[in-house]
Amino acid sequence: MSAFKTIDTLDVAGKRVFVRADLNVPMKDGVVTNTTRIDRTVATLKELSEKGGRVIVTSHLGRPKGEKNPEFTMKPVAEALGKAMGQDIPFATDCVGNDAKAVIDTLGDGDICMLENLRYYAGEEKNDPAFVDQLADLADVYVNDAFSTAHRAHASTEGLARKLPAAAGRLMQAELEALSNALESPARPVAAVVGGAKISTKLEVLGTLASKVDVLIIGGGMANTFLNAKGVNVGKSLCEHEMAETAREMLVAAEKAGCTVMLPVDGVVAKEFAANAANQVVDINDIPEDSMVLDAGPKTVAELSAKLKECKTIVWNGPLGAFEITPFDKATVALAQEAAEMTKAGTLLSVAGGGDTVAALEHAGVKETFSYVSTAGGAFLEWLEGKDLPGVEVVRA
Ligand code: AMP
Repeated sequence: MSAFKTIDTLDVAGKRVFVRADLNVPMKDGVVTNTTRIDRTVATLKELSEKGGRVIVTSHLGRPKGEKNPEFTMKPVAEALGKAMGQDIPFATDCVGNDAKAVIDTLGDGDICMLENLRYYAGEEKNDPAFVDQLADLADVYVNDAFSTAHRAHASTEGLARKLPAAAGRLMQAELEALSNALESPARPVAAVVGGAKISTKLEVLGTLASKVDVLIIGGGMANTFLNAKGVNVGKSLCEHEMAETAREMLVAAEKAGCTVMLPVDGVVAKEFAANAANQVVDINDIPEDSMVLDAGPKTVAELSAKLKECKTIVWNGPLGAFEITPFDKATVALAQEAAEMTKAGTLLSVAGGGDTVAALEHAGVKETFSYVSTAGGAFLEWLEGKDLPGVEVVRA
């Protein structure tokens, strides 16, 4: 991920500025229930407004599947944005055409409006050139502040950026900088934690990380697959037995790349996947036939913590155990808190992302302490896989 254009490169004064934000916020009964995504985009909007731009805020909301379905209207989002910004945000009942134009035409320099859901048109997700032209008709310059949709080449994330002078907004800039500091030019040693249920969903992530990082910590259900591949009897644990060969190949590739792979040396086992199930700590070679590993054990945590202390950067995706059910959250919480302490002390850059990971770090009470927590599930994973993201490619310098 080389250099990219920021809004410093754009001349926005008196211009119509199309901002692709991610305002796909949770709603209940027509009310926004969590404004995090709205709050995070305010800095970009304020700056563009202060520079005299005529700011057009756009986003998708839910999956209206190319139809004008009032269930997915952005109107309540415009109201919530108005509250967050302390000003009225005029709302256009369409995202293209005369209704959109009419509202945009009323904007003076520094004013902000919001358009209706981009996904009311099938052309959005299809990146249809005709729909791109309709969007391009509304604006002079383009700003993308939605890293979370950057892995999709949609009209508003890719096609339009090719038509207008384009740049990353401040939120996207922060995300790109954090990601680049973590894996492209990181302070070494770099550790990666890959946990979660299955390796089959994270093959590319594991492969790419093994070639880039110094230490690869494997946890969660997927650790069982690796242990099984190494001849460990994992009892009733979640395990993809059919992936044994793939897991072995990965371990060989990691070793060739000079990457140290760390697997659990002990585990917390139970007979059922349930909160507060009767459990015990066992050596990884002594997993009872009728039990399953639901968390890494204390010896593993001690080993991982000691290794982490030698590291300067950590990239984290996926929990070390079934963190949603007590007491199987212990290893995830302990390592997350260790990383948070080091981050606070200024000795570690910590970047994490992916749906479950955000929840796990929140649960550990360290979401705010990590250097950067990406809420962009799919885009974060594709970035971890080393893929070029279409929405990022179009804002490259
Ligand atoms: P993922 O979506 O792949 O990141 O997986 C996250 C899920 O993996 C969480 O819901 C965890 O409960 C689950 N998980 C983590 N460790 C284990 C384990 N040892 N056994 C079963 N499920 C696990």
